[in-house]
Amino acid sequence: MENHLRILLDNVKNGHRLSDDDAVELFRVQNRDIWKIASAADEKREEQAGNAVTYVRNQNINVTNLCVNACGFCGFSKKPGDEGIYFHDKQEILKKATLAKKRGVTEICTVSGLHPDFNARSYCDLYRWICEAAPGVHLHAGNPMEVAYAARKSHMSTKDVLILMKEAGLGSMCGTAAEILVDAIREKICPQKVSTVEWVRIIREAHSLGIPTTATIMYGHCESVEDRVKHLAILREIQDETRGFTEFVPLSFIHMNTPIFRQKLARAGATGREDLLMVSVARLYLDNFRNIQVSWVKEGIKMAQLSLVAGANDLGGTMFEESISKGAGAINTDYLDPAEMQRVAEDVGRTLKRRTTVYGLV
Ligand code: SF4
Repeated sequence: MENHLRILLDNVKNGHRLSDDDAVELFRVQNRDIWKIASAADEKREEQAGNAVTYVRNQNINVTNLCVNACGFCGFSKKPGDEGIYFHDKQEILKKATLAKKRGVTEICTVSGLHPDFNARSYCDLYRWICEAAPGVHLHAGNPMEVAYAARKSHMSTKDVLILMKEAGLGSMCGTAAEILVDAIREKICPQKVSTVEWVRIIREAHSLGIPTTATIMYGHCESVEDRVKHLAILREIQDETRGFTEFVPLSFIHMNTPIFRQKLARAGATGREDLLMVSVARLYLDNFRNIQVSWVKEGIKMAQLSLVAGANDLGGTMFEESISKGAGAINTDYLDPAEMQRVAEDVGRTLKRRTTVYGLV
């Protein structure tokens, strides 16, 4: 095994593409060999993305937590009649976007529940308001689920919705709602969400329209190692065709306040070993992705720092307002000062650099 691992990592170093079986094998490693994998991934990171640790100054605007879906891993959404429902109207959105602009962010993200009254026009209005109040700020919004929902509510094709969204100011789309791109798992954790085929189709449509997207995975609940690899294989195949993914963002499952954990359908999130290997194996397997992001919101800053020497090159956003992970039970998710990012980057011998959403330098 040890010898086989060495050959496999040497092959990757020499430009050989990892097979799905190779990736499964790497994900299964449980002993000190994880450091060898992390080290190989760190070398690959240096070769593909250089030595800078990047971040974006951004702000989330969570429009509403009211949602027609009921995903089992979600601790954020509310149903009509629940306590703590909020909905930000035009005036509040304009206020938040204006404040974001004043704070000097270069990116605004919207994340929301699927409001029962939303349709394609609601999303486009929202994007226009934000662009009007924060001119020049990149709008990173929507996801394949929201696009499919808007299309259904407005009796349009998803491609036409994307065209309207782009006209309304959408700069790039979130590659969320991916969770695990295996329908048997989606049935268990998010049965009302878009299917794997729909997710892939909408992402391809976005890329074909010049709308770049991120790519994500949510892991550590009830998926197997093989499921994770199937998911990564789909992302690698799309990227081969479109080159439309800006980065890969692994999202470790935050379990505390979620229905699937309470119902014992999911475990208590990924372990530290799994978090580290997710970054490292992704760096080695996704050979057509330049950027691997580590989410300090999901992993905490200490684990995020270790990920920077295990294949990751990006720390994501500063945030200001974060409700999704907080709803699921995470703490300290609102804002990370770039000074703290700089401290952890320099502590592993790297330089922190600010970037735009699509990885240009600011
Ligand atoms: S994950 Fe999104 S779509 Fe699913 S219940 Fe939560 S807010 Fe709604």
